[in-house]
Order: sequence, then C-alpha cells, then structure tokens
Amino acid sequence: MPSPRRLLLISTPVGPLGSGLGGGVELTLLNLCQGLRARGHQVTVAAPEGSSLADVPVVEVSGQLQPTAHTQGRNALVTLPADSVLGNLWRYAQQQQEQFDLIVNLAYDWLPFYLTEFFDTPVAHFVTMGSLNDAMDEAIQQVARQFPGRLGAYTRTQAETFGVADAFAILSSAIALEQYDFCATPGEALAWLGRISPEKGLEDALEAAEMAQVPLKILGKLEDASYWQQLCDRFPHAADYYLGFLPTRELQQVLRQCRALVMTPRWIEAFGNVAIEALACGVPVIAYARGGPAEIVQQGKTGWLVEPDSVSGLVEAIRKIDQCDRHACRRQAETDYSLEALALRFEQWFETIIGRT
Ligand code: UDP
Repeated sequence: MPSPRRLLLISTPVGPLGSGLGGGVELTLLNLCQGLRARGHQVTVAAPEGSSLADVPVVEVSGQLQPTAHTQGRNALVTLPADSVLGNLWRYAQQQQEQFDLIVNLAYDWLPFYLTEFFDTPVAHFVTMGSLNDAMDEAIQQVARQFPGRLGAYTRTQAETFGVADAFAILSSAIALEQYDFCATPGEALAWLGRISPEKGLEDALEAAEMAQVPLKILGKLEDASYWQQLCDRFPHAADYYLGFLPTRELQQVLRQCRALVMTPRWIEAFGNVAIEALACGVPVIAYARGGPAEIVQQGKTGWLVEPDSVSGLVEAIRKIDQCDRHACRRQAETDYSLEALALRFEQWFETIIGRT
C-alpha cells in the first residue's frame, strides 16, 4: 500500500453538496472520500457554502454559483459571475497548495483546466460529463497534451467524446453497498431517478409507463421547472408520480420495491450512478444503449439495453423484465462497484501522477 497522501478535492461550483444540483458528482465525491479515508489518506474537501457531506468535513467557500454546463450550448462562451464561487474555490486551492500532495478537480468548468499549469502542486481532473462545449473540449485537450495522465473519467464511452480517450484513466464509480437493501419481491411500479432536466428524457419513461399501464415513481431534483410543467401538462399522472428529491436512505426504500429502473438519457450519460444504486437493491435496469448505462447493464441478466429514443423498445423491455434475476443484479453491484475497488483505482491513478512530479 502506498504511503498516505494529503489530498484536496475541489467540488463542483454549481451547487452546495447535498442540494442535488451537482447530480451524481455529489455521491461520487462522498464515496471517494470514504473509500480513500478507509485506505489511510488524509482528504480535505472544498465546496460551495452550505455543503454537507455525511461525516466528511468540508471547507465551505462562499460566492455565486456557476451555471450548469449542460444548459449552455456547444458554442457558449466561458462565463463567471461576480464573486464567483468557482474562482474563490480555486483561489483557496492556490493559497493552500503546499499543504497537499495532489489537488483533484471534480468541476466540469473551464477555469480549473486552464489553471493546471500555474500550480506547483499537481492538479488531477476527474471529468464528470461527456463533451458538451467547444471551449471545455479545448481546455481538456490542452491538459491531455501538456500533462498526460492527469485526466480521469467514469467510462470509456464518455472519454471518447473528447477525442483524446487514451489520455484518460477510466475509473468507473461505486456505492456504499451496506446502505442499499436487497428486495426480492417488488411491487408493480417502475422507478425513474435523476435530475428533472431535458437531457434525462423523462417524457419517454412517462410515455412507456403509460403504454405498459404500470405506475412510475419519479425521484430527483427538479432542476428545470418549465420542462417539468410541460411534462405535467402532457401526462396527467406525472405530478402524482413525483416523490421529490430524497436522501439515499429513503431513496433506496422506494427504489428497492420497484420492478425496474428506467433510464432514458438523451445525451451521452457519463456514467449514471442511479443504475448501480438500482442494482445494489436487486432492481434491474432498462436503459437506452447510450453512454455509461451501456457499459453497466448486462443484457438480459441485470437489465435490458434498448435502442436509443425508442419508447416501444422500453415497453418491450418492461414486458420481459421478470426474465432478469434480481440476485444477479445485487451480485453485479457487489463485484463491480465496491467502494474499496473505487478507492484503489483512484489511488493508483493518483500515484502515477504524484510519481511523475
Ligand atoms: N438522487 C438523490 N435523490 C433523489 C434522486 C436522485 O440523491 O431523490 C441522486 C442519486 O443518488 C444520484 C444522483 O442523484 O447520485 C444522480 O446522478 P446520476 O449519475 O444518475 O446523473 P447526473 O445527475 O450526474 O447526470
């Protein structure tokens, strides 16, 4: 085991940890901290003011939140509000850098990539989404050229969207399995989990549930209110199906009783933490064969991959969902997505970077 390292993890500037605005990054960050601490590393997290991260202490940094990258266009300019929390987080990192062996960026924002070359302490970047914006792509490609080995991604499909896939360490994701209880005997309903935002394609899940005549349980952060209103206008049951944004413990109590999780991404989903949360409960995953879920679901065994954007494909998968074995789902979560394995992968990645400097 390598010697303990002093690590500074800088969170996303789009929202405080615990708000749900950070999407899967919030859970990934928590799991990563717990896994790394269990291996003896000293982990400091810096995040926007108001953050909470279970028992992990957080350095809270004030300032205005950053708009999310997926709501901007491909040609969008790099923007920063006045008194930017992103700027303030990276000022903190710059001032404290001597205290750390490595700084790890989890923000999908241009500034930290640009700043990489101006730091004495090495900065590693865990990229949490696929390619969305030209300026970001350029900043990521610049790091790939100048600092080989400093980029990490969830999945290969995600890394490939940047055109420099070989520059990435592929690190996957994980969950704290003990927080998810297995359920062998589900009810009738399906689950849909995630930020309620157009790139997640909730309308397809609503339509498929309507066609298959099964109820749907919707859980997640209401990120785009006008989009949600359109869904409520189009699908009379939508508002009744929505259960709000729940903490993990309550989320899994609902999720584990569902027959399947339906994932309907319109974009290249970098990973899809909700997929492995479902598997951990023994819930098979029906997903469009696009992005991360396509690297997770074992066809016919732990779920069904469906032709992207095909609602009839979802309906067909719903009809044959009982062919999947719920025990196999839980087993896949146990073998492929443990916290220990995640921490080990990140540790190996960190060691190659620290060893190079
Ligand atoms: N989530 C949650 N409560 C909810 C619904 C979702 O905490 O009621 C979390 C879920 O655990 C997951 C995240 O929201 O960690 C969604 O992450 P995912 O990787 O699926 O997608 P992203 O938002 O990163 O695109």
